[in-house]
Amino acid sequence: MNYSPEIKSLPVTRCSFSYPGTYGHECGKRPVSVAVLTPSESGHWENEVFYAGRCAECAAEKGGENTRVIRFEPMNPSIHINRLICHRWTA
Ligand SMILES: [Zn+2]
Repeated sequence: MNYSPEIKSLPVTRCSFSYPGTYGHECGKRPVSVAVLTPSESGHWENEVFYAGRCAECAAEKGGENTRVIRFEPMNPSIHINRLICHRWTA
């Protein structure tokens, strides 16, 4: 078995805000700003921060996934790309 981590680039394309317990039911609207979040506890993110799109409505929310927000930045598709390390084992 060989360990071959794979890095995937995930650009921010939509508002991904959701409330706890509603995973898979993200808002989905066009983002107007980007939330800069602290790293996930799983430690699977290469970056020190994670970018998540927010529409105007969801950017104003104080709870849910916005509790980890450090700051908001104007949407910039060339900057706001998340790099996710996929842990894979091959035979
Ligand atoms: Zn939204």
